[in-house]
Amino acid sequence: MDQKFTGARIRQDFIDYFIKQGHTFVPSSSLVPGGDATLLFTNAGMVQFKDVFLGTDKRPYTRAANSQKCMRVAGKHNDLDDVGRDDTHHTFFEMLGNWSFGDYYKKEAITWAWQLLTEVWDLPKEHLYATCFEDEKRQIESDDEAAGYWRQQPGFDPTHVYFFGRKDNFWEMAEIGPCGPCSEVHLDRGPKYCNMQDVPGHVCGVNGACQRFLELWNLVFIQYNRLSPLQLEPLPAKHVDTGMGLERIVSVLQDVDSNYKTDLLFPMLDIVQRLTGHSDAERAANITPYRVIADHARTAAFLIADGVVPGNIRRNYICRMIIRRAARFGSKIGLDEPFLAQVADEVIRIYGNFYPELVKNRSTILDNVTREEQRFQRTVEAGVTKLEGMLARIKRQGIQILPGGQAFDLYATYGLPLEITRDIAREQHLDVDEAGFNEAKEEHSIASGGGEALGIMETERVGAYTDLLNTLQTQGKLDPEGVYYDPYNRLEVEGAILAIIRGGQSVESAITGDQVEIVLPETCFYVESGGQVSDTGMIVSANGHGWEIRVDDTRKPIAGFIVHIGEVMLGQPTRADMAIARVDAQRRRDIMRNHTATHLLHHELQAVLGAHARQAGSLVAPDRLRFDFTHPEALSIDQLEQIEAGVNRNILGDYQLHIANKPLKQAIFEGATALFGEKYGETVRNITIGDPEPFSNELCGGTHVESTGDIGIFLILSEGSTSAGIRRIEAVTGRGAYEIVQIRTRLLKNAAELLSAKLIDIPARIEELLAEQSTSRKQIALLKRELAATEFVRQLGNVDTSTGVPLLIANLPDTDADTLREMADMFRQRFASGVSVLASVQENRPIIIAGISDDLVRLGLHAGELVKFIAAPLGGGGGGKPTLAQAGGKDTTKLDVALKAVPGWLKSHLNNPK
Ligand SMILES: [Zn+2]
Ligand SMILES: [Zn+2]
Repeated sequence: MDQKFTGARIRQDFIDYFIKQGHTFVPSSSLVPGGDATLLFTNAGMVQFKDVFLGTDKRPYTRAANSQKCMRVAGKHNDLDDVGRDDTHHTFFEMLGNWSFGDYYKKEAITWAWQLLTEVWDLPKEHLYATCFEDEKRQIESDDEAAGYWRQQPGFDPTHVYFFGRKDNFWEMAEIGPCGPCSEVHLDRGPKYCNMQDVPGHVCGVNGACQRFLELWNLVFIQYNRLSPLQLEPLPAKHVDTGMGLERIVSVLQDVDSNYKTDLLFPMLDIVQRLTGHSDAERAANITPYRVIADHARTAAFLIADGVVPGNIRRNYICRMIIRRAARFGSKIGLDEPFLAQVADEVIRIYGNFYPELVKNRSTILDNVTREEQRFQRTVEAGVTKLEGMLARIKRQGIQILPGGQAFDLYATYGLPLEITRDIAREQHLDVDEAGFNEAKEEHSIASGGGEALGIMETERVGAYTDLLNTLQTQGKLDPEGVYYDPYNRLEVEGAILAIIRGGQSVESAITGDQVEIVLPETCFYVESGGQVSDTGMIVSANGHGWEIRVDDTRKPIAGFIVHIGEVMLGQPTRADMAIARVDAQRRRDIMRNHTATHLLHHELQAVLGAHARQAGSLVAPDRLRFDFTHPEALSIDQLEQIEAGVNRNILGDYQLHIANKPLKQAIFEGATALFGEKYGETVRNITIGDPEPFSNELCGGTHVESTGDIGIFLILSEGSTSAGIRRIEAVTGRGAYEIVQIRTRLLKNAAELLSAKLIDIPARIEELLAEQSTSRKQIALLKRELAATEFVRQLGNVDTSTGVPLLIANLPDTDADTLREMADMFRQRFASGVSVLASVQENRPIIIAGISDDLVRLGLHAGELVKFIAAPLGGGGGGKPTLAQAGGKDTTKLDVALKAVPGWLKSHLNNPK
């Protein structure tokens, strides 16, 4: 392949070109969007910049360029169905973008796009087209400005500008908010790429139906803020947001007609072909499975690298489904053993240079993929067979759609994801009721307590906070950065109340009992972030007005704005009153111990279990810490002890914490651990522990103790699993740990007192007691049997011969089944021919044992029939050998009557031998 146009080279060309134009390269954010609970996966380059456009976040640069990892496999943008069927759809893709935050605008964006395409990449100028916006409703101005800049580009054919309406050329983030016209670059690839030449009346064209014209690049010009469907206001600062799919531009520059023929994906197809041993013709005949496997292996590798392992809900479910779907397509081309790791390894080889997280997590990726394939193979066959049955049945009934409940059962019982059920149904020209599936899933998750609520704040509330922040800034009461936030150096600050919010409204004052949100010019209250919970405390009058507010929570609803949420306990706080805000210091110190201990625990987990044990979630509260991490199996007692001991060793080491603010790149270069799902700015807070070489190095905005000795002691309370591949440890430190030690010691002391033993002798004393108890039990059993034997001898006097054979019927008090059986044996030894029926009541239930001698069995008598006859009126049943059988029942009151009927049964059976 032409080295000039490898996929990696093209990606780098793009970034280098824009760095030359003064852009900052911003690494791709995680596939798991940080701080956005409404979005399952990062699905566009703009996700990590969304808050900048909304004006709630600021960056130290105004020009940025990136290559963003994206997924479109769930929600509104779901391309899963098309993946494998065509050459252009993927579940994972890379989006190249350049960005202006209130910096350059249309002229530069268009000029640079033209230069990169025609000068760096040498695309033929005469084959390039541009589209611009023209409102079909005539409500918004046409973008003649952009059209004008296109026509000025050297070599651009001025007749190649086309205008399109809202659907194609107007971009909106949501119903309201930032929006603006866009301008797309299209390439005419020539008549040979038209795939509709046979369609009568077809004419090739920009935004047409065939594949000849290809949209390469979309330049979005954000210049309006939409207030309502009919109301636009110009934005004070205009932005540029562009997006170019890497796979597509690579396919163009490598001059191939499929993304799967580029060096970004073809090597994976190659691996699959080697595994199947197919000829090229066989590969072409099975191209759909090939494409699906290549695409899904890539997605799975990137997902797992970002910490999303296979599981049952949300993101983890998608990871599971992707792997299972690839495995099933593999089995369609004869790959019946786990094979996907070999394809994923190729993904790591191709992409690892640019995305080092793949290399770093290689073993985790390969392990997880293989384990998931194995898990699937164990059940898939049964599931697919079951599904075939279901489909055959509905076909017979003339139904085209498999009910959702049945599809859900397949998932719940056999782990067959809906997407695979749908694949199989469609192969038979049937479909699945997806709404029904989701309903069944919902019901199930509610029933199993797994339902989850998303913390979505309504646009309205956000608007109210934004208005208040703007007002305070305009009045000069807050500086442009917003509320000054420093939870690190003090536990108390003083300032005038800037706003009191009650019921969503800003008010002049509040009274005792009111629930309020208080805004101050600065705060030392920590706002929940990175797993550490918010501070609580008090806000009190600073100049003798005597009011008090209890703060139960602290939140940052929008960037730069912090509210203290709580209840007025006393008096009447009023706007502009001087106030002292005081963090609950003891609670905060407990939190700090737990946070620093969390870092020590993270380090120790990696030291004991290996580098794959990465943080997957964390809660730092005053009373405990909770830490989730990726690890495939339960920890042994030995490992837990080792981890607990290691953390305590580092506590006793009393290492000072080094906290520094530094550029993100430098911190990562120095080996800091960045956590997935967290959003980092350009400058990060870097926390290292250990002397002289740090053993713990994390990016963290939390509050910490000064040196590890402050933690006191660390105790693990529990270890368990939260979902497949994720383990959870709960632990306590400091006061919490001391309390537990105290409780445990008290329990031990109580036990010692009860045992009249010293603490150290408790285990020996308990062993002694258990041994004594066991001996006593044996003696009791022996005595019972002796008693029963005595009783039996007494009962022999009651042997009745009126039926012609010796018959013993005895109802013995409190005798167990074993003893009754022994007595039946004794009877048999005494009487060579005869019948014994022995009964007792144990735990309020009747038991009956019947023994019949061999000679009578030869006559056709059966002990099993006899016990059934007796047990029937007692509401029970039983059975056994012809010579010995046992039965039980429920009703003890009828036992005597039932036993009285035995001689009659015996007589009738002796008179009518079989
Ligand atoms: Zn065409
Ligand atoms: Zn931390």
